[in-house]
Amino acid sequence: MRQKTALIPTLRSVAEAEMISHQLLLRAGFIRQVAAGVYNYLPLAQRVLQKISMIVREEMDRIGSQELLMPALNPAELWQESGRYDTYGPELVKLQDRHERNFILGPTHEETITDLLRKEVNSYKKLPMTLYQIQTKFRDEKRPRSGLLRGREFIMKDAYSFHADRKSLDETYEDMYQAYSNIFTRCGLEFGAVEADSGSIGGKGTHEFMVFSEAGEDKIAICTSCDYSANIEMAEIMIDDTIRIKKQDVQAMEKIYTPDIKTIDQLASYLQVAPSSLVKTLLFIVDDKPVMVLVRGDHEVNEVKVKNVLEATTCSLADETTIFKVTGATPGSLGPVHLDEKITILADFALSGFDEWHIGANETDYHFLHAVEGRDFEVSKYADLRTVEEGDKCPRCKGTIRFQKGVEVGHIFKLGTKYSDAMRGTFLDANGREQTYIMGCYGIGISRTLSAVVEQHHDDNGIIWPESIAPYAVHLIAVNMKDKEQSELAENLYLQLMQAGIEVLFDDRQERAGVKFKDADLIGIPKRIVVGSKAEDDIVELKFRRTGESQELRVEELLEVMKNN
Ligand code: ATP
Ligand code: MG
Repeated sequence: MRQKTALIPTLRSVAEAEMISHQLLLRAGFIRQVAAGVYNYLPLAQRVLQKISMIVREEMDRIGSQELLMPALNPAELWQESGRYDTYGPELVKLQDRHERNFILGPTHEETITDLLRKEVNSYKKLPMTLYQIQTKFRDEKRPRSGLLRGREFIMKDAYSFHADRKSLDETYEDMYQAYSNIFTRCGLEFGAVEADSGSIGGKGTHEFMVFSEAGEDKIAICTSCDYSANIEMAEIMIDDTIRIKKQDVQAMEKIYTPDIKTIDQLASYLQVAPSSLVKTLLFIVDDKPVMVLVRGDHEVNEVKVKNVLEATTCSLADETTIFKVTGATPGSLGPVHLDEKITILADFALSGFDEWHIGANETDYHFLHAVEGRDFEVSKYADLRTVEEGDKCPRCKGTIRFQKGVEVGHIFKLGTKYSDAMRGTFLDANGREQTYIMGCYGIGISRTLSAVVEQHHDDNGIIWPESIAPYAVHLIAVNMKDKEQSELAENLYLQLMQAGIEVLFDDRQERAGVKFKDADLIGIPKRIVVGSKAEDDIVELKFRRTGESQELRVEELLEVMKNN
């Protein structure tokens, strides 16, 4: 490609972008915003997207997954059947056609594919079957910032697998895990596969592929000694199972007046004790029922864990009105004692060793001291309910947990029969009996991956593309196009490199050398060939963007080196 006529609008600076990948992709002329979270992918970006897609296709095809293409425009009926038309939330883009029929723009395609398979694949003989597509997705994200990292329109590879039994799903899941590892390795990313929340399915039903980066919105808990890693939204806590003999002779409960004390820290300083010896009480609404959750004063409740312990589908903090209705008190004075209504009371494992609890009295501005579990109140269940913290012991090996930020580039998920049950996706087994498909789904953010690569591969001067997905392999630069020797040699090299099947971007512009080099650094093509003053001796410079190393070579040598690299 000749740069003179190429659409590569580089910029020296950009004001609006916060993330480094967003800045560099704008500055290097890869993307332009059309609306918040909606972008033009300019020619250079399109080439990178194509290369990432090619790697994805190769790895998907290798594990026997078949490519298809489903529509972005989908009838609301399918989403009503699964129930997600109402539950997916405001991210779902809804629209109407001229006949006032409701449609959605697909944020993901479980419904569409389940509908296809239930009509077309009804025998065990066709299973397992895995299908994938690379397609534009729509999600009306609340905060579409960070450029391609979180778009409202973005490119995703989504795959869906259909199985006659669990074992077959487990096998495909393993294949996907391996394929994803290959894909992100080939894209030059440093990443980890972390355990994530699998909702009511439980177990190791889902992994997120996280690219380690400060730009990430996800926090990952990683063990410093073993390979345990999990999204902190569900990372397990090491259970201290040493049995403690509890004190038997705790004095009777004492009610104390605690005016204006709303937080654990305020209570701790009022009582002159550490927050870790206190109990934090919160009220949640879980599947429409109130649930009281108690954790140690210095710990945080993890809503995902609360939801999963109760095998529920929704969980959110109760508002003040509900809290008052259930307990008769305001949020700072809640506790498990003297509750009129019989509600589920969950307590975190860390409280199981407490001899006596200092807790809210369910009366505004009052607390109880010396409450004893079993004597003064009952706990329905002890469970792992708190969010992991840096410095916690690893749940696997007793090493230490530290946190790292990550960008989720891929997600593999055992769906089970969630969609096939809701949409009656069935097949006949070997005995002629009707069975429900067992399903898996597997996503990769193609456009997000492009951005994640830039987050990990750049320096102060610009992007440094890994060779596997670089928009071009070589950036050929004629320092002075007005110089006849230089321009002729450069033109000649351009043809020869193309004939050798090498992808070249040829900077044939009549720009100053400084501008050309700055742009080349910004764009980040791995190899640079500079045709300069030694052109008359047939000598050019070969320079590597990543290391900055360069060497002078005769043209014949150069062509040999290029063909062998
Ligand atoms: P996130 O937590 O970041 O919103 P998600 O859990 O909603 O992601 P999935 O529904 O699992 O994401 O989608 C599969 C993949 O699609 C993700 O792993 C990610 O790479 C990509 N993806 C999701 N949302 C976006 C977005 N708004 N912009 C770009 N890529 C996205
Ligand atoms: Mg999301």
